[in-house]
Amino acid sequence: SKFETCEILIIGAGPAGAVAAALLRQQGRQVLVIERELFPRFSIGESLLPQSMAYLEQAGMLRAVVEAGFQFKNGAAFVRGDSYTDFDFRQKHSEGWGTTYQVQRAQFDQILANEAARQGAEIRYQHQVLAVDLDGDKPRVTVRNPAGEHYQIEAGFILDASGFGRVLPRLLQLETPSNFPVRGAIFTHIEDGIPAQGFDRNKIRVTVHPDHCDVWYWTIPFAGGRCSLGVVAENSFLERYQGSETARLQAIVNEDPGLSKLLANAKWDTPARQIVGYSANVKSLWGKGFALLGNAGEFLDPVFSSGVTIAVKSASLAAAMLQRQFTGEAVDWQNDYAIPLKKGVDTFRAFVESWYAGGFQEIIFYQGQQPEIRGMISAILAGYAWDQSNPYVRETGRRLATLEQLCTAPA
Ligand code: FAD
Repeated sequence: SKFETCEILIIGAGPAGAVAAALLRQQGRQVLVIERELFPRFSIGESLLPQSMAYLEQAGMLRAVVEAGFQFKNGAAFVRGDSYTDFDFRQKHSEGWGTTYQVQRAQFDQILANEAARQGAEIRYQHQVLAVDLDGDKPRVTVRNPAGEHYQIEAGFILDASGFGRVLPRLLQLETPSNFPVRGAIFTHIEDGIPAQGFDRNKIRVTVHPDHCDVWYWTIPFAGGRCSLGVVAENSFLERYQGSETARLQAIVNEDPGLSKLLANAKWDTPARQIVGYSANVKSLWGKGFALLGNAGEFLDPVFSSGVTIAVKSASLAAAMLQRQFTGEAVDWQNDYAIPLKKGVDTFRAFVESWYAGGFQEIIFYQGQQPEIRGMISAILAGYAWDQSNPYVRETGRRLATLEQLCTAPA
């Protein structure tokens, strides 16, 4: 049968796919991106971490992002009842960017995709990858075009950056259950009406539910007086609330006196949505002729806003692997891609586990923290989860357990 050929086929034009496309174009590779949706399209995941800036810069996209005028971000704030604490990411252990942005992903993702196209990647919107065949010498995919016709592409290599679409994990039965309980989120965008006094728009705000330490809300201010608002909880908790998603979100927000006061003047002009059971894992991040990027590989949890950072980090690592592979070098995807990528993911995982068990909350709200320790925590919250010079990266679990003991010991 007749089929097209390309050097690198990328599934999905989100942050992972767009950054990988640009980096591979910089190597002179021919890149074809197949994207199911028409951009701009909505995506969740709006608060970036400073670590991601290095990869946007590497991909030649930083200027376009800076010039778009997104909300500046320099840290994260946490609220629990009357307690407040914040981390300024510029005060951190690791080298590198200390600031970033809070972005409407429809616009942000379109900017990254346009930048990849400007660098010579071909992006086909509203084309959907339906099937993959790895039996031949080279992988082949079946794609449906907007007219509903199917066609085949044979690729030198496939990068699956399909996010929650998880195209290759599903087609190749690579999926494994996540170790986390099934949590979900209800979220919306609002005209927030938050008075400037006493509210820092330069930080994501995470509010812990007054009665349930494993339920939390995000407020992510955008430029222009709007805000992303959401709640995360176990599915069994969310199921107790009836009515429209907007009514359910409002009811849960009303349970926290501080947050409902903050949002007293908000205009709820956008219907809320729900997403449940987003945490996922895979048996392997690579195989013959393909590798998984970003969310197509693993997704942990939204609490530390690590998703986009992991996505663009994986794109950078994979592009470096392909550069070596195309020069004829025998490369080891397990040792040089999967294991290094997982190192940082596992740092975040230990922090996420500690957050939901409550220990990490004791750590951040503890009054007497040494500045040096706070700087190490701040670095990880800023996304520097791969920096081996940070003891909380090298021995995350043990360090967190010791620190928790210290912060909860009776005075
Ligand atoms: P995506 O951005 O999902 O892009 C994948 C693309 O692939 C999509 O455009 C899709 O249309 C396309 N696609 C899918 N299937 C196919 C197919 N068959 N054929 C062709 N194309 C296809 N991350 C953060 O960094 N900060 C946050 O504050 C944050 N908050 C979050 C809150 C919640 C509740 C959740 C669930 C996640 C959050 N995340 C956050 C995570 C973030 O959403 C993702 O990690 C991030 O979008 C992953 O990027 P990606 O490029 O891997 O995939």
